[in-house]
Amino acid sequence: MEATFTSQRKFYLTQETKTLVFRYQQLDKLKSAVKQNQDDILKALYKDLHKSTFEAYVTEIGYILKSITFFQKHLKSWMKIKKVKTPSFQLFTTSHIQPEPKGQVLIIGPFNYPFQLVIEPLIGAIAAGNTVMIKPSEFTPNVSNIIEKIIKETFDENYIKVIQGGIEVNQALLELPFNHIFFTGSTNVGQIIYEKAAKKLIPVTLELGGKSPTIVDETAHLKVTARRIIYGKFLNAGQTCIAPDYIYVQTSIQKAFENVLLETLSEFYPDYESMTHVVSDQHVERLKKLIDKKKVIHGGNITDRHIEPIIMSNVTWEDNVMQNEIFGPILPILTFETLEEVIQILHEKDQPLALYMFSTNKKNIKRIFSEISFGNGAINDTIMQVVNPHIPFGGIGSSGIGQYHGKASFEVFSHMKSYVNHSVKIDPPIAYPPYTKKKEKLIKKILK
Ligand code: NAD
Repeated sequence: MEATFTSQRKFYLTQETKTLVFRYQQLDKLKSAVKQNQDDILKALYKDLHKSTFEAYVTEIGYILKSITFFQKHLKSWMKIKKVKTPSFQLFTTSHIQPEPKGQVLIIGPFNYPFQLVIEPLIGAIAAGNTVMIKPSEFTPNVSNIIEKIIKETFDENYIKVIQGGIEVNQALLELPFNHIFFTGSTNVGQIIYEKAAKKLIPVTLELGGKSPTIVDETAHLKVTARRIIYGKFLNAGQTCIAPDYIYVQTSIQKAFENVLLETLSEFYPDYESMTHVVSDQHVERLKKLIDKKKVIHGGNITDRHIEPIIMSNVTWEDNVMQNEIFGPILPILTFETLEEVIQILHEKDQPLALYMFSTNKKNIKRIFSEISFGNGAINDTIMQVVNPHIPFGGIGSSGIGQYHGKASFEVFSHMKSYVNHSVKIDPPIAYPPYTKKKEKLIKKILK
């Protein structure tokens, strides 16, 4: 690792990664490699997580291809040195912002979208002109192998290299003086990364998790609401950082809404063959402990790593399922009488990564969106906020630090170097010593 780090440093200092042509070409190479290896990526996702071809293509491969196209379209303008305004008293001066690569970056990935969640930040790191070391998740070994193969065949290891392994490997990587660490994973591990990085003052992006609330008030369109929640929750078997963690439904529509939810589930999943599996037996055991059979109104059959979607009703904050992020196919339903109640409770909780509000009442929507703090979200939808590269994605507080996607990815892997350029033709002595009374009077007129 140290040897790779040193040779990547050498390569970075050649300045090669900084040109537009180089960055553009590397994105091209990445795109072709993803296309060429598409079948193997899909197979690996099936082996590790039983992801259907459709889900895997939409959320892991197509997503990445579209993203590269977007970056290639905008890269030139993002890279430009921008001339900005200068205060009038700074005579004969121009001011500039020049994005420069952070340098050597480390990307650490999770298991749930094991391909997309290392390749999407990689696109940003390439676009910003960095060298990269990637540590994919050890819980999806087939996907990690195909990532390693693609990177090895496509890029020189002095530029981008995959390092595989578990905690020990991560710990060794965290000893290296990277210029940026981009981590996606759990809040607990995020804390470890932050602590390690702090010792060397390495800037971090932490894309973490949490319990994302989904509020359904009595004015919501029940059918559409049910479809969009079921989709967002059971996509990837609930192993999505921004999945609706739980539903808060207004008591007046609870029964009607639960009926529509159950109808929708059976429409969407006539059988559960196509569903993604839970990543490991350990996670299945963790999820089993969250189920309170008395509250289950749907599902619960568990075969190996496949869990039939579970809906639990009349759940309260005291239930096991409400203690931590669920990250699996269990959907608890809580109820509220007034929006005030929901707001008060959410103010006591950690700021979530995502929040969803289903309502047709503009006042209610406005209230929730202005009073509750959260990373990102949607009105009358779930998940779709991540699809739009024009909006930055990331958490707040315990759900994360920093944002990426689209231009935000370019910015997160760049340092915005800023400077002024002062003409030498005229050099008024006003600010220079000796400081006379006359100069002081004049400066007080200007700086007020
Ligand atoms: P995780 O935190 O267990 O693992 C993520 C990475 O950290 C892995 O590569 C792993 O090897 C490494 N790691 C684990 N323990 C470590 C330690 N002690 N020291 C150093 N490195 C260590 O996360 P996971 O289980 O793979 O993913 C699920 C979590 O990730 C959920 O909480 C989910 O919400 C979150 N997540 C967030 C986003 C986002 O974009 N915000 C996306 C996907 C997942």
